[in-house]
Amino acid sequence: MADAVLTGAIDVARDAAIELAEDAAAVGEHLGSVEEGERVVSHTFACLLPGYRGWVWTVTLSRAPRGKDVSVDETELLPAADALLAPAWIPWAERVRPGDLEPSMVLPLIENDPRLVPTYEVSKDEDAMQIWELGLGRERVLGAEGRDDVASRWYRGSHGPTAAQAVASAEPCQTCAFYVPLSGAMRLVFGACTNEWSPSDGKVVSVDHGCGAHSQTTVEHGPTQWPAADPVFASDVVVGFDLGTPDAVVEPDAVVESDAVVQEDAPVESEAQLAEQPQEQVLA
Ligand code: SF4
Repeated sequence: MADAVLTGAIDVARDAAIELAEDAAAVGEHLGSVEEGERVVSHTFACLLPGYRGWVWTVTLSRAPRGKDVSVDETELLPAADALLAPAWIPWAERVRPGDLEPSMVLPLIENDPRLVPTYEVSKDEDAMQIWELGLGRERVLGAEGRDDVASRWYRGSHGPTAAQAVASAEPCQTCAFYVPLSGAMRLVFGACTNEWSPSDGKVVSVDHGCGAHSQTTVEHGPTQWPAADPVFASDVVVGFDLGTPDAVVEPDAVVESDAVVQEDAPVESEAQLAEQPQEQVLA
């Protein structure tokens, strides 16, 4: 059974809460009391401070056996079950995400980075090209775990086979003249796109990626989309022809080649002379 003296000492508890809050307006209604042990009871009051939704002022009271005087043991501001809390603290080193690095920043090396292995650990059984490519003068190189990680990330990314432009492409990068394979262990699956017209220019693409700028792209030219113009007939225009007077016709003999020498003293028939000749001769 709850201690009646302590349970009823709400005003004592409120005064203690106001003393902690240093502002009577910050202490709200009495929310209840909890018996913590024998002759020990905690009272809670709503916290009205801005930004402390769901927090409560908690005052713990106690009294001596057979005593009527109430003592204040503790006063504190505690979060209730629905309190607004700050996110759990995460070390700075774990907060940095890919893409956060800006030009003026440095990223310290990660000790025991699982993606990297000491160069001397590269097995003799590994591909010779890979050893040359990854181990030349470097303390650590990309290990199997690191390669699997980056390969699967690239393959699933926007320059792999599932990208929208790859799905729409008729031909894969593998058959494109602009595809330059990487060296080392990644060369079988990845290369660089060197086509400035492609959205993937300068990016690592997978062999089965693709885009509309593939070097062997052929386009079938269809008919023009301009509407065909209808012919115009001017049927109301009367054009008169003079069928009685034939046009002058130049005799084939009179045609002078452009590069031939013109004889200035050669007789030239005038139009009047030609008109006087018989019709049959002119038309012959
Ligand atoms: S141009 Fe297109 S098809 Fe060719 S390598 Fe680049 S992304 Fe691949």
